[in-house]
Amino acid sequence: MTAKIMDGKSLAEEILADLQKKISQLPVAPHLAIILAGDDDSSLIYVRNKQKAAEKIGMQTTLFHLPENVSQEEVLNIVDHCNNDEKINGIIVQLPLPKHLNSNLIINSINPQKDVDGFHPYNTGLLQNNEKPYFVAATPLGIMTLIKQVCPDLSGKNVVLIGASLIVGRPLATLLLNQECTVTVTHIHTLNIRELTQKADILVAACGVSKLVKKDWIKPGAILIDVGINRENGKVCGDIDFADIVEKAGAVTPVPGGVGPMTVAMLLHNTFQAYLLQHNL
Ligand code: NAD
Repeated sequence: MTAKIMDGKSLAEEILADLQKKISQLPVAPHLAIILAGDDDSSLIYVRNKQKAAEKIGMQTTLFHLPENVSQEEVLNIVDHCNNDEKINGIIVQLPLPKHLNSNLIINSINPQKDVDGFHPYNTGLLQNNEKPYFVAATPLGIMTLIKQVCPDLSGKNVVLIGASLIVGRPLATLLLNQECTVTVTHIHTLNIRELTQKADILVAACGVSKLVKKDWIKPGAILIDVGINRENGKVCGDIDFADIVEKAGAVTPVPGGVGPMTVAMLLHNTFQAYLLQHNL
């Protein structure tokens, strides 16, 4: 058996083409504000990718690129400005922020109706309650869309997540639970992870450890989602050892070209939804 490759790049292109068509029919382009503090290499690349994708589909972006030593008050003032500017529909704060800034306080100051990253407690709380939040975080949303392509009925599936971060593992666990999956969330302190992953119908690796998942970690035919973006000898690779598992898995997302492009597409999907929400459409 050779695993089906889940092509996130093509699916993201379809989603973006559909958004482009819808945006071309609007009187004003949806507008995304991006707040970035400092010059972290990865953050600069991610922000540029988001801006490029947005511009390509006719969406406006404004980048507030602040110095590394920006004060908490200055960041909060910019969030406040974006909250009150009717021309701005969505606001994201590129994480991680420099250590002296209080990320929670800054995220919590975003208007939940403009929180297109879905990190505000209002949105995460509604998700937790299995109610409809304004926005769900882009990476988990992209992952759910990819999984649904190969497994439309998730009820009763045994899912194991490696990684319990606020931006991937936790919201994804909730989304899967809300779809009646049995979810096990593992992290750096979990003992005997392999014994858990071997039983997974669906395994999501989001821990940032290069090629951690090998073929003896997985059940034959399992669906594998690789969220990791790691650099090894100048090349990007995931948290799953693709070459090792490809003959045993049922389906797998490649890195690059899997979850990454879906994250960008879902962020822009959320920004479009924010525009509709704010225009009562
Ligand atoms: P994080 O550092 O916030 O969290 C990592 C999680 O993995 C933690 O819960 C930690 O306990 C766990 N972990 C670390 N090492 C582990 C190990 N050896 N075994 C089990 N668990 C372990 O990271 P994050 O922001 O969630 O990102 C995780 C990875 O996903 C990174 O490589 C990041 O670059 C990538 N990422 C990709 C996208 C995308 O769009 N493709 C989006 C977000 C993050």
